Amino acid sequence: MLFNEVLDLKGKIRIYCRVRPLLPGEPKDQSTVDYIGENGSILIVNSLRKGKDSKKVFSFDKVFGPNSSQEQIYTNIEPLIRSVLDGYNVCIFAYGQTGSGKTYTMSGYDLNTKETWGVNFRAICDLFQISKTRADVIEYKVGVQMIEIYNEQVRDLLVIDGSTKRYPFEFCFLSPFGFCFPFGLNTQDVLDLIRIGQKNRIVGPTAFNERSSRSHSILTVHVHGKEIVSGSIFKGSLNLVDLAGSERVDKSKVQGDRLKEAQYINRSLSALGDVISALAQKSTHIPYRNSKLTQILQNSLGGHAKTLMLVHISPEPDAIGETVSTLKFAERVA
Ligand code: ADP
Ligand code: MG
Repeated sequence: MLFNEVLDLKGKIRIYCRVRPLLPGEPKDQSTVDYIGENGSILIVNSLRKGKDSKKVFSFDKVFGPNSSQEQIYTNIEPLIRSVLDGYNVCIFAYGQTGSGKTYTMSGYDLNTKETWGVNFRAICDLFQISKTRADVIEYKVGVQMIEIYNEQVRDLLVIDGSTKRYPFEFCFLSPFGFCFPFGLNTQDVLDLIRIGQKNRIVGPTAFNERSSRSHSILTVHVHGKEIVSGSIFKGSLNLVDLAGSERVDKSKVQGDRLKEAQYINRSLSALGDVISALAQKSTHIPYRNSKLTQILQNSLGGHAKTLMLVHISPEPDAIGETVSTLKFAERVA
């Protein structure tokens, strides 16, 4: 059954929505979100305004409520991860306003506690584990790359202490956009590199507050498989993307660098939306070239690829405007 589900996913865009819990300090019992069924597919947003149009209903492939665990989310993603080892390119995006839980879902919360691990660590451990069970038929090699896109500039995150110096690895491959990435890694190598990348994302050469929420980060796991009997070779890749916050900024309130950042983010997120909806509608022209993000992911979006959008929303009343625009974005690309 799982296998059929994997086949069905090919070429299709899946949308999951995760609602984070209300956090300490946020008004209790004032969630703007209701559901039909536990972890079902329907979400109701109540704008808390009286009147006929105060409720909006959205439907997605899956909706995860505020009590859903990291494990529940991952279990529903696992078939996609598995297909990377069959030679598919997979893209998983975390979309939503700043503070809606994107980094919580992807990177996890406390890396020393396994239950709180996010999609990234779980996926990597699984890739290695599943590849071991196939070791007598397929020889796998794994490489990893982690980059950040900030103001349409690409930065390598797998460098020593925010410098441009790379970690010494025996085998390195040159990526299409010029970075060298380490290959032939084991589970621990990859987990260590991700920790480094996550740290570099926060620190950065021009560190200022919350820079990470204004940049896109892309963790790519490249998998090369060689069938032992036939000697034939295939490639798959897993792209785990923590997108910049989708919130609109008030142009009358921000200027200079903040305004420039906001414009870059808006443009690249709409470029991503355009590409995904063009793919969903099977358009003949897919506008990949309108942003660095879609250019870099071109080979992993569309064609022989599988895409999952993890849409994140906050249930707090103040976030209602962004919540509705996030859900509308998700509806548009579905
Ligand atoms: P984003 O990356 O979208 O800006 P974060 O992942 O940093 O958002 O989450 C914002 C805050 O909410 C953090 O303090 C995080 O720990 C908390 N949080 C997010 N999602 C959850 C969740 N599912 N359960 C508990 N706390 C969460
Ligand atoms: Mg974040």
